[in-house]
Amino acid sequence: MDIIINSLYSNKDIFLRELISNASDALDKIRFLALTDKEVLGEGDTAKLEIQIKLDKEKKILSIRDRGIGMTKEDLIKNLGTIAKSGTSAFVEKMQTGGDLNLIGQFGVGFYSVYLVADYVEVISKHNDDKQHVWESKADGSFAISEDTWNEPLGRGTEIRLHLRDEAKEYVEEDKLKDLVKKYSEFINFPIYLWATKEVDVEVPADEDESSESSEEEESSPESTEEEETEESEEKKPKTKTVKETTTEWELLNDVKAIWLRSPKEVTEEEYTKFYHSLAKDFGDDKPLSWSHFTAEGDVEFKALLFVPPKAPHDLYESYYNSNKSNLKLYVRRVFISDEFDELLPKYLSFLKVLDYYFMNDKGLVDSDTLPLNVSREMLQQHSSLKTIKKKLIRKALDMIRKLAEEDPDEYSNKDKTDEEKSAMEEKKGQYAKFWNEFGKSVKLGIIEDATNRNRLAKLLRFESTKSEGKLASLDEYISRMKPGQKDIFYITGSSKEQLEKSPFLERLTKKNYEVIYFTDPVDEYLMQYLMDYEDKKFQNVSKEGLKLGKDSKLKDLKESFKELTDWWKKALDTESVDSVKISNRLSDTPCVVVTSKYGWSANMEKIMQSQTL
Ligand code: ADP
Ligand code: MG
Repeated sequence: MDIIINSLYSNKDIFLRELISNASDALDKIRFLALTDKEVLGEGDTAKLEIQIKLDKEKKILSIRDRGIGMTKEDLIKNLGTIAKSGTSAFVEKMQTGGDLNLIGQFGVGFYSVYLVADYVEVISKHNDDKQHVWESKADGSFAISEDTWNEPLGRGTEIRLHLRDEAKEYVEEDKLKDLVKKYSEFINFPIYLWATKEVDVEVPADEDESSESSEEEESSPESTEEEETEESEEKKPKTKTVKETTTEWELLNDVKAIWLRSPKEVTEEEYTKFYHSLAKDFGDDKPLSWSHFTAEGDVEFKALLFVPPKAPHDLYESYYNSNKSNLKLYVRRVFISDEFDELLPKYLSFLKVLDYYFMNDKGLVDSDTLPLNVSREMLQQHSSLKTIKKKLIRKALDMIRKLAEEDPDEYSNKDKTDEEKSAMEEKKGQYAKFWNEFGKSVKLGIIEDATNRNRLAKLLRFESTKSEGKLASLDEYISRMKPGQKDIFYITGSSKEQLEKSPFLERLTKKNYEVIYFTDPVDEYLMQYLMDYEDKKFQNVSKEGLKLGKDSKLKDLKESFKELTDWWKKALDTESVDSVKISNRLSDTPCVVVTSKYGWSANMEKIMQSQTL
């Protein structure tokens, strides 16, 4: 807790958006349940899906209330009481290695940010399945919980009361709160209200004293000394006048718009960026690398908004094979359905922050105006339109990534652009390399897993090579540099570029000016088992059997004259160790190398496998 508080201290503001985001999640949950059972919403005010903020200046209390799903006693213990949640250590670790504090919301520890501003926190919560309870804790790591018999009944939902620290008094100022909500929570899908003071004009009978115009004087001057001076006018007609009075009322702070439902033409770049930040719970300065906002029409109609984040999430590949979590937020008619819905995007695209709204009009699952009561995750999961949607989403996502490269002046594909065109693209400079560093592995996993889109994905592949001079090259670029008569695309695998540069396998190839791709990521070995060819060119691992470097007339003679040696050698090494011993033209300085068979593992792959089993 101390580490979290200290590391976030300069960033105190974030507590509010974390609480609002929790309130919004809780409201999403109850709204989702209400799809199948209206009863859960209750009646009257309890059914209002909104967030309310109240300030008590005197007592320095800030409270945030939602009518979301609420928490049972058990939930309170489990969700708020256990600081040793898995996200905590991940977050703390990240902080200590200089991570981005703004990402706290992604680690599932957002609630604890309340202690940045409060030294005592009460959480009052009512869940449909339990009585109302109060959870309370000072920032000391312990908490108390009891059945609530003294607060006003909440109906349903949660109220969080922050007893602010002295240094955090600013958070009972209305303007401060309004600014923060505007800044961080503009795109929350539920109305956020502040119990705010407001100056209103009210008509009151004109004061007898014409000269006293301001309201303070009005209240404090019922003195009779001045009466005589105004007597005449007062007697003619009873007058009214307008005065300012202060009242308190609920003021709506956000305008609850669903950006993805609007026409892309009407949404500004700034709005996309801000929306992305709230969606991704990432409030750093980085813009998303790209986005794609579109409407699909035809058998299945839907709208979607996809984002490529500026950075890969901390656990993107850690959880790749054992988690089903996609970043897809699925809404049906603006009702949030799920963000654990992995049927719509393949795993390798799970890095995309996606917001997706769709409705299906082919089976009447969702009719034009109202949601049927039986929409459930299970039903959607089995719906036949999913395949079509998935196909379109993948296509759009890959298009978006391709465009990212096409707009980057550093990219090979843009070599024919004029200087003018390039300077117009200047702000996109280096964007694709950035994408590649963050998400290149996803593209490779895609090539492995998605046979249908393999070629499209291969186009997105980047690598260094013997000719790339420290930059990233593409397969198209490689092909453009192929020597006349060169049939195959050459590559070599290993643990680093530095190691590969010294490899004897490259000696002769570089001497003859062939380009060889360096593949240095362990996943590359798997990748190359799936990527057999590209644009009719085969891939050839230069450390494997089968390397052909054009015709060599001397080779046949050499084979003949050294036959005795190669036969002897083969016998000298036992047959278990080598398949064959051959004269080859692949070397220039090194006398001999061990080459692996065409379909077997490369030496590098052997190494990888060994390190995995150890
Ligand atoms: P996260 O929101 O990422 O799960 P938090 O630390 O912000 O992590 O919140 C922890 C958990 O506490 C939430 O997952 C949720 O179950 C519960 N919670 C927090 N605030 C609320 C709320 N207003 N209503 C219902 N549950 C809540
Ligand atoms: Mg949260």
